[in-house]
Amino acid sequence: MGRRLTSKLYLSNQRVIWHWCPACTCLHQYRLDSASEIKQPDWPEMEDKHPGAPQWSFNGNLELPTLMPSMLIYAEHPDSSRPWEEWVAMKQRGEIDRIPYVRETRCHYHLINGNIVFCEDCPHEYRGMTVPLPDLPSHDTYGYPGE
Ligand SMILES: [Zn+2]
Repeated sequence: MGRRLTSKLYLSNQRVIWHWCPACTCLHQYRLDSASEIKQPDWPEMEDKHPGAPQWSFNGNLELPTLMPSMLIYAEHPDSSRPWEEWVAMKQRGEIDRIPYVRETRCHYHLINGNIVFCEDCPHEYRGMTVPLPDLPSHDTYGYPGE
């Protein structure tokens, strides 16, 4: 189960919202607090499978989302020894069970009014920059959670 809420936000569960990170070139997820759930009328109620996990509050604005507090993650990237499309094709042909990921970079940012505000302590090239949330990649080029 999962759906695009907008061109920039993807919902895999009433409590889990995803966006594209241009620095890490992968999706990052926020787990919402119970007050911020994004109810989908045609989805069943979902039990909280990770009650102790970190949670963020969401301002409810899908066009200009703000999520608090900041996000700090260690991102995993697809193994760059092959182009992403090649990994996808290999998986589709059954040559590999899953696309290999490697842990690469630390990513620290705020999501405020639809902008990603990267902190100064990021090791990547977006350090200190503010960029609008980018559009999500197509379903064909990226494996979405819950689908
Ligand atoms: Zn990132």
